[in-house]
Amino acid sequence: MLEYDEDEGILWVTPMLRSRLQDSSSKDIVVTIDDCDCSECVRARGGVSIDRSIHLKVPTPEGKILIQSLSIEEANMIGRALIAYSENLDNMIEEE
Ligand SMILES: [Zn+2]
Repeated sequence: MLEYDEDEGILWVTPMLRSRLQDSSSKDIVVTIDDCDCSECVRARGGVSIDRSIHLKVPTPEGKILIQSLSIEEANMIGRALIAYSENLDNMIEEE
């Protein structure tokens, strides 16, 4: 079930799936479908089926990467918020 709240320009989503920290020197934000069937990914996925979640990977200052698993609905909502908020800002800038 999707748990979220939204107010003007703020979206709170309480993820249903877990997050984890992993050592990584990557400085990239990565968005990917969780569709790998190697044993490590299957183990990390736990009870979630393949192709049913999306990984949002965010680098941290400590040389790690935060991997948040998102349900399809959560990813959709966050994606829409990013598009809507960035379009709002673009429109505000154009009107200046
Ligand atoms: Zn894998």
